[in-house]
Amino acid sequence: MNAPDLIRRFQPAKAGAAALPAEAGVYDGPRTPTVLFLDQTGQMGGAEFALLPLAEACTARGEVVLLADGPFRARLEEHGVYVKVLSDARVSNLDREAVRLNLLSAVPGILRQIRAIAREARRFDVLFVNTQKAMVLGALGKPLHRRPVIWFLHDIMSRAHFGRVQLLVVKWLARYVVDQVVANSRASAEALSALAGIPAERIPVIPNGIDAAAFHKVDADTADDRAALRRRLGLPEDAYLAGLFGRLAPWKGQHIALQALAKLPDVHLVLVGAPLFGEHAYADGLRLQAEELGVTGRVHFAGFRDDMPAWMKAMDVILHTSIDPEPLGRVVIEGMLAGRPVIAAAAGGVLEIVQDGHNGLLTQPGDVDGIVDAIDALRLRPDVARRLARQGTIDAQRDFSLETYLSRMTQAIARAVR
Ligand code: UDP
Repeated sequence: MNAPDLIRRFQPAKAGAAALPAEAGVYDGPRTPTVLFLDQTGQMGGAEFALLPLAEACTARGEVVLLADGPFRARLEEHGVYVKVLSDARVSNLDREAVRLNLLSAVPGILRQIRAIAREARRFDVLFVNTQKAMVLGALGKPLHRRPVIWFLHDIMSRAHFGRVQLLVVKWLARYVVDQVVANSRASAEALSALAGIPAERIPVIPNGIDAAAFHKVDADTADDRAALRRRLGLPEDAYLAGLFGRLAPWKGQHIALQALAKLPDVHLVLVGAPLFGEHAYADGLRLQAEELGVTGRVHFAGFRDDMPAWMKAMDVILHTSIDPEPLGRVVIEGMLAGRPVIAAAAGGVLEIVQDGHNGLLTQPGDVDGIVDAIDALRLRPDVARRLARQGTIDAQRDFSLETYLSRMTQAIARAVR
């Protein structure tokens, strides 16, 4: 069954409010529950891309609450999802530093948001929290809404990215309040298991599913098609193009790719993505770094793009250069679906996607020379590059299918109310 069929069958014949009686969908169970999805951001990060098709599959009996407005709302609405934004600037803008300095003044806003979320959650059978702040606010409100809480974990919970207090709060809520955690990778599940003392086997792993059909729609198999595609995107037609996809942030390691580029005289680097969560200084720093390295003419800053299949298929190789373990790495899977060889940093969820020399190449995180050698090797042996790319596509279609993802997620939601 393809994704649109699956989505149609999960929805009742007449779309409407979440209070509709739940008739049988594709998913077994006494009745299909209504679900409120809660996400803290309006930006399009990996967690939001993962929620998008799931919320769409549940439009007839689900709604989304966002804690900040942004492009994610429009994307959800385009997909027929009902969205409500409950934003409170004082709570949305809380960062690690502000929490330390200013927690007391934020308390009234936090309490207001917990109450507002609980009011919404009471209209549904299940509260599905998709980000960490959403989990904390949704779980703290459980005495008010008394609904099972499912947390879709998209992070590796460690000190690399989170404060001590934050980890402590997450640990206790995950252990005592959240009813079911579902992780996007074994790496994410194991980190939470170690933090909260929850046995890893109680955290099911449901990897993201990605729509392979979107990649089939872009023609780039022949040299002519690829040249036309590059022209359309404003990229050099004849250069060897290495693409790096994802938001601009220090831990995504775009600076590592620039260092590698400086050692690869005739390669061009295409950076697709924008600073989504305030990393503007890093983005500016990358331009400066390119100047200092003398590679400005060979770096293309494309900004945030909606048409990833086209941008990926225009590349010769796709890089992933994160210096911290990636919770999953959707861009790696997408690179494989695009039929391009992938060179990825060997840590975290990426190890559940790429097997070195089988469906891609792995380098150690931060290893500039490793990336240079891997690109040289692929250029020297185009036959190997083609074999890795072909295998990558096969493996990504098998392991990260949208149908399997939607089916497993909606079953997990159904189980939460039993
Ligand atoms: N993405 C996009 N346009 C961009 C940059 C990124 O659509 O310009 C998408 C990308 O296709 C992927 C997601 O953003 O689906 C990033 O997910 P990933 O798991 O790689 O990283 P995260 O944002 O979760 O750290």
